[in-house]
Amino acid sequence: MAKIIQSIRGMHDILPDQSAAWQYLEGTIRTLFTQYGYRELRTPVLESTELFCRSIGEVTDIVEKEMYTFEDRNGDSLTLRPECTASCVRAGIQNGLLYNQQQRIWYIGPMFRHERPQKGRYRQFYQAGIETYGIPGPDIDAEVVAISARLWRLLGLRNVELQINSLGSSEARAAYRDILVAYLTEHEAQLDEDSKRRMLSNPLRVLDSKNPDLAELIEAAPKLLDHLDDESKQHFERFQQLLTDMGIPFVVNTRLVRGLDYYSRTVFEWVTTELGTQGTICAGGRYDGLVEQLGGKPTAGLGFAMGLERILLLLEEQSIEIPSLAPHAYLLMQGDAAEREGLKLAETLRDNVSGLRIMSNCASASFKSQMKRADKSGAQYAIILGDNEINEGVVSLKPLNGGEQQQLSQDALIEHLTHIVSTENNNG
Ligand code: ATP
Ligand code: MG
Repeated sequence: MAKIIQSIRGMHDILPDQSAAWQYLEGTIRTLFTQYGYRELRTPVLESTELFCRSIGEVTDIVEKEMYTFEDRNGDSLTLRPECTASCVRAGIQNGLLYNQQQRIWYIGPMFRHERPQKGRYRQFYQAGIETYGIPGPDIDAEVVAISARLWRLLGLRNVELQINSLGSSEARAAYRDILVAYLTEHEAQLDEDSKRRMLSNPLRVLDSKNPDLAELIEAAPKLLDHLDDESKQHFERFQQLLTDMGIPFVVNTRLVRGLDYYSRTVFEWVTTELGTQGTICAGGRYDGLVEQLGGKPTAGLGFAMGLERILLLLEEQSIEIPSLAPHAYLLMQGDAAEREGLKLAETLRDNVSGLRIMSNCASASFKSQMKRADKSGAQYAIILGDNEINEGVVSLKPLNGGEQQQLSQDALIEHLTHIVSTENNNG
């Protein structure tokens, strides 16, 4: 037998049994973003490697060790996108979407990072996100947080905590950097190798370390929030005020610096304790310097990205029910005349019952095996068409959860199915 080829480690098939949950989540997200007036931007999954080096920053986990980078046949260095913010900015500059105007953008799609695969951490994973341009905030900062908060409500997710922080202006950060380096130098002996290196190249990232041995040291470090410039301070206060006004609870986490280099002022994460160390389901912030860094005119930017696998894991963890996409009805056909009529009948039903999901039996089989297929399809009803039904001009409808079978005219069947579909829609 030929050798079976496996998918790549950390990259998973989304199987038919799982895809209803994905469609539900993605559909909810698309509708939600559209409700706020955001429009979709689709960018290629491959970009020039330089785009990510220049935006995300050389001294980050992503650029240092997580990117899928290779040379194509022309010898150009390409990278599978590890995130989408850089791509959105690139597309915005290239297509003249950013200068002197406002944009509210969303995206959804796969991202690629060469990380150690584990629950909630994969090498291909999906993000849905929002990016806004030309709006300096803090009103828009509060709006994008409200969008994410609304998503958790729509999905029925519980126990996700909003953590916020401000990284200030780049000047304030530069001044704080010196204070932090002085503190870290004083405690250098306690630092791990990564942190020692980062202390020199990008000391703020030490605060982002996931090494539990450093937790105490980081907790005691001087806080950026105590060294903010006045404008950033006002921005942060107004942002908090707007969240409070909208009834969105939050906590200030002074250690929140985010893994990427390009953030300024507002940063935030939605965190749960129910997914172990992969507890951040959504993360974002303001990146007013990024557009210029990538060659555009200075333009305010702000966005977030959510990890769809982690949201789905949390839905499962909290036993939240996902609307079914199984057929409402499975059509059984018995005998030659019924097999001729059946496909036509199913088409008529689809024409007349909007939203109906009906599956026709294909490949003739005994009544018993057709019933098995009907059960396996997850349908709520079997519609039966046999010689009797054909002769009498009726169909039989049998609830598959054990109710009574009844004979109906085609019109009555249409009415019945319309009722079934509309009750489902009202409940869901
Ligand atoms: P983490 O600290 O968990 O590595 P991150 O700071 O690298 O996250 P971001 O770059 O901010 O993550 O990406 C935004 C969101 O995308 C994360 O909060 C998470 O929900 C999701 N995410 C990031 N990396 C992965 C991954 N490898 N697998 C699955 N989801 C991921
Ligand atoms: Mg990461």
